[in-house]
Amino acid sequence: MMEDEQLRSILKCVRCGTCRSVCPIFEELGWESFSTRGRMMIAKGISEGMDLDESIIDSINTCTTCGICEEMCPAGAIPPDVFENIRHEIVEMGKETESQKDLRENTLSTGNPMNETHPRLEWLMEQRDVPDHAENVYFVGCLGSYRYQETVLRTYDLISDLDVTVLPDEVCCGSPLLRTGSDAGELIAHNVRQMEEVGAHTMIASCAGCYNTLKNDYPDRFRVVHITEFLAENLDKLELERLDITVTYHDPCHLGRANRIFDAPRKLITAVCELREMRTSKENARCCGGGGGVRKGYPELSKALTEKRVAEVPEGVDYIVTCCPLCRTNMAPFSEIPVIDLLDLLTWAQKKE
Ligand code: SF4
Ligand code: SF4
Repeated sequence: MMEDEQLRSILKCVRCGTCRSVCPIFEELGWESFSTRGRMMIAKGISEGMDLDESIIDSINTCTTCGICEEMCPAGAIPPDVFENIRHEIVEMGKETESQKDLRENTLSTGNPMNETHPRLEWLMEQRDVPDHAENVYFVGCLGSYRYQETVLRTYDLISDLDVTVLPDEVCCGSPLLRTGSDAGELIAHNVRQMEEVGAHTMIASCAGCYNTLKNDYPDRFRVVHITEFLAENLDKLELERLDITVTYHDPCHLGRANRIFDAPRKLITAVCELREMRTSKENARCCGGGGGVRKGYPELSKALTEKRVAEVPEGVDYIVTCCPLCRTNMAPFSEIPVIDLLDLLTWAQKKE
């Protein structure tokens, strides 16, 4: 059953259509049913028992949960939350798509959505002396563990003197499941148990999706910070020097708009090099098209959004910097300019002995 809060959010929609001018999926497809407003009407219909067919499910599942509609909505509606909730109802009704099913089954059976079966962080434990207990836990995330090990190693080295460890048996934070309508209670409970065993009070996330999930979907028992906040607080301890390069910064939707972390990444970037903003940035930043299960479920649509985001890169920059491995994975194949993680940039700027 839809929660009262969600129903109230749907009813807040006055059908003004402001969101139509900003929804990147509507911009691509042009059909009302693929605009925020259209989805809100469909969500209302579903809550009243409307029959589901494929086009209705596609309408709800093509939202990237970028949140720019919420930013602009004059009535205070929160459409991405409504659509996540409706996705959950649709899944509960047994109308899960193949893509949602794959994501759920893979993540629950292997602990990561990519279905990797080898141990997740053994490589890190082998290369570094990771303590059993610490006050802070670096939550590495699935893409970090399996796709960006070099960045993770650099990140760990940058913060390891600050009383940091990792979870001994970390599993996916649950974001891919929660954003696509499945339950992640099992994964959350597993990670929370380990936080208690390690005795840590703070979780440090380096992925925007992990951060958003740890912060907003986990029990309110631990302090959750994004690595950029943590490092911006400790900037004087990092011993950085300036690099002769110019970069641009892509705000990940789930870090920026969803959690208002705009300044910490910029503080770190401008400490080490020149920053030239993209055509849209901060609360107005264009979505890269990777979130909400759209990259997996609707790859062509996702690609169209990515190409538009990459086209916003200003002239004369050496790198696109971001601090979300999904945004990085999503943009890199479509960009002539290399896409790097902010942590890689900081490591390059560390003073050498
Ligand atoms: S901007 Fe808000 S009120 Fe207007 S149509 Fe979109 S969701 Fe509804
Ligand atoms: S969250 Fe983004 S993709 Fe989803 S309806 Fe709103 S603007 Fe469109």
